[in-house]
Amino acid sequence: MELLLSLAKLSSIMTSQQTDVVIIGGGASGIFTAVIAKETSPTLCVTVLEKSAIFLSKVRVSGGGRCNVTHACFEPAQLIQNYPRGGKELLGCFYRFQPKDTIRWFEKQGVHLKTEKDGRVFPTTDQSQTIIDALLNQACNLGVNLHIRQHIISIFHVEGRFHIQMRDGTTLICKSLVLATGSSPEGHRWANSLGHTIDPPVPSLFTFNVPTSRLCTLSGIAVQNATVALPALCMKQTGPLLITHFGFSGPAVLKLSAWAARPLHALQYRTNVQINWIPHLSLEQLKNRFKILKKEHPSKKLVHLNFCDLPKNLWKILSSPFTDKVLAHLSHSDIEQLSSSLQLDSYQMEGKTTHKEEFVTCGGVTLKEMDFKTMQSKIVPGLFFVGEILNIDGVTGGFNFQNAWTTGYLAGQALEAPT
Ligand SMILES: Cc1cc2nc3c(=O)[nH]c(=O)nc-3n(C[C@H](O)[C@H](O)[C@H](O)COP(=O)(O)OP(=O)(O)OC[C@H]3O[C@@H](n4cnc5c(N)ncnc54)[C@H](O)[C@@H]3O)c2cc1C
Repeated sequence: MELLLSLAKLSSIMTSQQTDVVIIGGGASGIFTAVIAKETSPTLCVTVLEKSAIFLSKVRVSGGGRCNVTHACFEPAQLIQNYPRGGKELLGCFYRFQPKDTIRWFEKQGVHLKTEKDGRVFPTTDQSQTIIDALLNQACNLGVNLHIRQHIISIFHVEGRFHIQMRDGTTLICKSLVLATGSSPEGHRWANSLGHTIDPPVPSLFTFNVPTSRLCTLSGIAVQNATVALPALCMKQTGPLLITHFGFSGPAVLKLSAWAARPLHALQYRTNVQINWIPHLSLEQLKNRFKILKKEHPSKKLVHLNFCDLPKNLWKILSSPFTDKVLAHLSHSDIEQLSSSLQLDSYQMEGKTTHKEEFVTCGGVTLKEMDFKTMQSKIVPGLFFVGEILNIDGVTGGFNFQNAWTTGYLAGQALEAPT
């Protein structure tokens, strides 16, 4: 270690450049941190080092190319319910920078935003480029030093300064270092080498593969309100459900995948999935509904019922083997069987598929090692973490970018100009 430190000192003496703040990672959280730092302390020298050839590449593809910037949920206590990991820690942060502030910040940059029925917020242009332009224009206007294709080979913390050694032989020396590398393994390795614990990364926000599903032929059919449960984990979520050609998707499944990300990984994504297609009725109420229908329409075939607004083709499959029976012929045990197959409809999950619109990583820098007032490390003074590198992730709907904006804002405000 001593030899490494000496080498770090030696190379930094040879070709070193001083700056106040280095931000590694030019994604949403890194660029926003840089902008807020300059808005707060205009004399601060802020440098962003991005490994790839473009900044904000995830913003570009986000929300199906439309960028779901945030979610119109303005009550911090309610907002944190959307973070399977990090909600408790984010509560205080959201009192300082929440979706309302995000919307205000973008509108100040001339970006008009709209809120969709389900609360997701998008630019009115429906183009993620609008968000990219706003962030990069502001970064340039404020004089942030932006560098792409940067290859960092090592980071040392020596005598209160960070030494960032680049592949081209130069060393950047700074007082404050912000790690904003998202779910990149390199970022986790640096955090770890600087003394931080990494909660192992596993995927979140995915859809369920059910190759043996009897519903695969109904791909594209959506149900507005179903409960999806994982009995082995005692976890469930209610909401819109989408039948796909490989299994199940839609908000209820994505939310469940986020809350159950770690235990599902441990089960290698193989477990029983139970669907309640009629979650607004209890089992008893459902049975009574059939008994009433039997009295009211004794000669009607089950297939011809418009049952609880279930899509016709779905109802046809769910009501089998009684589909062609007339209601008068439904026995007590038929009603029992039908009701339980509607409320305890069982499938075997055999793997997962990445949701194309939005996915994130569960895991990252352990939260108890962070000061959430500043996003500064409690272990290494001057070291900050923002965005997805932290063990914070939200459900789908704009909550993940909100984490990037909020943690970026707090770090940006805490990065002080030199005295
Ligand atoms: C397809 C997709 C769609 C999404 N859509 C949405 C959405 O609509 N709404 C929402 O809220 N969330 C969405 N998300 C999640 C959201 O994109 C992330 O939560 C968010 O981008 C995290 O921001 P970040 O800055 O922490 O990390 P990132 O955006 O991942 O940025 C990290 C940056 O660091 C760089 N980097 C990594 N390693 C190094 C290194 N060694 N040196 C230098 N630079 C490095 C990377 O190249 C990258 O530019 C989506 C995610 C995906 C994958």
